[in-house]
Amino acid sequence: MGLYYDLHTHSTASDGTLPPGELVRCAVQAGVDVLALTDHDTTAGIGVAAEAAQGTRVGLVAGVEVSVTWRGRVIHIVGLHVDPACAELQQGLCEIRNFRAWRAEEIGRRLQKEGIPGAYEGAKAYACGAIIGRTHFARYLVERGYARDLREVFKRYLVRNKPGHVPGQWARLEQALAWIHGAGGLAVIAHPARYGLNPARLRELLGAFAECGGVGLEVVSGSHSRDDYYTMARYARQFDLLASSGSDYHGPDNPWIELGRLPGLPPGCTPIWYSDRWPLTVESPPRFIA
Ligand code: AMP
Ligand code: MN
Ligand code: MN
Ligand code: MN
Repeated sequence: MGLYYDLHTHSTASDGTLPPGELVRCAVQAGVDVLALTDHDTTAGIGVAAEAAQGTRVGLVAGVEVSVTWRGRVIHIVGLHVDPACAELQQGLCEIRNFRAWRAEEIGRRLQKEGIPGAYEGAKAYACGAIIGRTHFARYLVERGYARDLREVFKRYLVRNKPGHVPGQWARLEQALAWIHGAGGLAVIAHPARYGLNPARLRELLGAFAECGGVGLEVVSGSHSRDDYYTMARYARQFDLLASSGSDYHGPDNPWIELGRLPGLPPGCTPIWYSDRWPLTVESPPRFIA
């Protein structure tokens, strides 16, 4: 049997619901061998997660999911095996978090105008002192009965052309990759099928990403369909990118994505953990979709 990899997960350090130590304990339970904690724009959970992983079956990969604006769209870039002590990375993430903090207040103001009071305070309470994301607003709005579930809140309030949407500039693609590389990490495009890019635009993104030294494409993601796995596997091969696999787990209350329940990579992909820059030993070949 191959090792079980889940290279995209969240904790309470961003918009996950499990504290980092708890997430690691769940990964142990779920039979994960290699877990990357990739919180949005922060590495604050890595220390606790690494400690919790000590002496367990889980090898912890220090990661981060960087918010990027590319051609007017938000794209997420996962950095794997980043050194959290890297000043350049931390400086960059700090700038993004400053934008995030302002955006949260602005979302609150816009929702207030829409007749939804207290959303900023509500989201802040859900964030428990960590950075505030749209997911925290969504949880509060569900709690207050403005929508049935998180998806509905996003659709009705938090996406483009909806009242709580706040446009803005996240990191530039080149910047995000420079931070990740400065921290010794490998850069991966997260959930590429989620951006609604047409094939020409996706090719453009993959080209620009590879040009900046990006090496990975998340072929298997909790938010991809089976068709997406195969489509993205083809793109990975065409652009000579290594394939990554991650659930994008946000906690047990998010029923459609489970920790450590990913199918193997489609045949013909080179897994990112086969990279000669991947620090952990690979003991056996990857599993394939049956
Ligand atoms: P933010 O980075 O604060 O703009 O929030 C992005 C996060 O919102 C993503 O990482 C997801 O966790 C969550 N998200 C985005 N779209 C949806 C959706 N349609 N339903 C539920 N959660 C979503
Ligand atoms: Mn999230
Ligand atoms: Mn993402
Ligand atoms: Mn994510």
